[in-house]
Amino acid sequence: MAHEVPALPYDYAALEPHIDEQTMHLHHDKHHQAYVNNLNAAIEKHPDLAKHSAEDLLRNINSVPEDVRTTVRNNGGGHVNHSMFWAIMKPKGGGEPSGPIADQIKKDFGSFEDFKKQFNDAAAKQFGSGWGWLIWDGKLKVITTANQDSPLMQGHFPILGNDVWEHAYYLKYQNRRPDYLAAWWNTVNWDEVNKRFAQAKK
Ligand code: MN
Repeated sequence: MAHEVPALPYDYAALEPHIDEQTMHLHHDKHHQAYVNNLNAAIEKHPDLAKHSAEDLLRNINSVPEDVRTTVRNNGGGHVNHSMFWAIMKPKGGGEPSGPIADQIKKDFGSFEDFKKQFNDAAAKQFGSGWGWLIWDGKLKVITTANQDSPLMQGHFPILGNDVWEHAYYLKYQNRRPDYLAAWWNTVNWDEVNKRFAQAKK
């Protein structure tokens, strides 16, 4: 079974005004689809890879045959990262976190405001394309990765991540990445983030 782009769980315009409809169309239908197409093409060359989930391919990236390893890293990463990204956003999202993730954020960062500041600073400073992440490593930590590298490749489960590739924000925010980062919090689906936090701790 070939990998597929998951349907958006809301309308393309549903994250307006924080993320515009045109960006969502291009990002989901073109960029994510391209990652999936490239991943599937790599797997066609090595059909034994088809039995693994994209997540497992990333966790064991060094076991992927060398001739397709970079392709799987970039495009498997792109597929997994974006599948998470659509799911952790929702219309009328944002606000203060609730549930276990809210308590853990207080414990590890002092406050939600301090966490957001650390996350936004790190994501703003990521040079070029990449992602800002909240990961679980016995405690919550903010990290960044370049390109489509996934925290799974470092043995860490991504609880929440924001895409800072220019394709994620340039149509609406142009060069103002910090404005995009600030607005993005209004889309976060904290129920989904709590589910991922529970998964991370397993
Ligand atoms: Mn993207």
